[in-house]
Amino acid sequence: MTLARRIADRIRAGGPITVAAFMEAAMQDPEDGYYRRGDPLGRSGDFVTAPEVSQMFGELIGLWCVEGWLAAGSPSPIRLVELGPGRGTLMADALRATARVPGFHAALRLHLVESSPGLRRRQAALLAAAGPQWHERLEDVPADPLWLVANEFLDALPVHQLVRTADGWAERAVTLAPDGGFAFADILPAPPDLVPDRDLPPGTVVERRPAAEALAAAIARRIAAAGGRALLVDYGYDAGAGDTLQAVGRHGRVPVLEAPGTVDLSAHVAFADIAAAVRAAGAAAWGPVPQGRFLRSLGIAERAERLAAARPDARATLAAALHRLIGAGAMGTLFKVLAITPEGAPPPAGFAAAAPGAAP
Ligand code: SAH
Repeated sequence: MTLARRIADRIRAGGPITVAAFMEAAMQDPEDGYYRRGDPLGRSGDFVTAPEVSQMFGELIGLWCVEGWLAAGSPSPIRLVELGPGRGTLMADALRATARVPGFHAALRLHLVESSPGLRRRQAALLAAAGPQWHERLEDVPADPLWLVANEFLDALPVHQLVRTADGWAERAVTLAPDGGFAFADILPAPPDLVPDRDLPPGTVVERRPAAEALAAAIARRIAAAGGRALLVDYGYDAGAGDTLQAVGRHGRVPVLEAPGTVDLSAHVAFADIAAAVRAAGAAAWGPVPQGRFLRSLGIAERAERLAAARPDARATLAAALHRLIGAGAMGTLFKVLAITPEGAPPPAGFAAAAPGAAP
């Protein structure tokens, strides 16, 4: 039975399910979830992530990790963790760029949090030399100093949508339409713990991501207790942006409820909520800063120039990749970067101008 049929049966038996429950089933159903089947990055050809655009992205993130590791006094061992490594490209580039840093590779143990069996196989092929261990969740990684990176991971975690109706806050849910397809329904009242603190005009949609906030808090608690650094990169905004849920299939945007499990569902990350969760857990949150500004301050333009000097035939390709990663209107402004450090740590590279907790 298709995933859509099984979700429909569940709604028939138990009533409407929240948007978050629909997203969880669509992405992580053990048999038919989008991230459980094959290589989603390959299947939908128009879903290209920053590490797949250019090696420079992973290289600079590797060096960012080293900078924080040196600033922390070169602890050993450390757990180098990537959440949702995709094809393993970012980590492969990061490891290559840091191979000559004395002691860094000897100190690190590589842990990959990945739910897709197909992507785990691709990561294994690329990262075998580093002897990675795979996990379903961060909780399973031993509690040592933590160096964690995640690109386009939080945006795939389930999102709740709260809708301010004339009668108060409702939670958006998915129900069955008369024609047998799926339809949205706003259910009153919304769970009190998800309702925003301040009242907003009727019609306003607010997205909340308890799963991402809990994950950020868990990262922060580890870093507060044992030291470390984390870098979270995602499509997102600093504060409130309404309904950002979208579905992307092989041919671009498709209706959100149309084909669960066969298209990528995501919503922008509310970085202000993530930063608040980090601070409440006792660590410092830096940024978010736009990806373009972050990569420029790490020296991406100089890196591109060096690569182009070594391979003049690739100069145009490199210039295009550089623009895609840092350009305004491209990933440079749409994507944001948030860093987590222990309280009292110096500003991490790329965040010098961003006081901990300050707006971007
Ligand atoms: N970071 C990669 C891939 C981004 S796609 C890149 O930038 O190219 C999202 C990644 O997170 C995929 O590897 C996907 O399989 C993984 N993923 C998504 N939800 C997950 C979950 N709940 N648990 C573990 N891995 C998950």
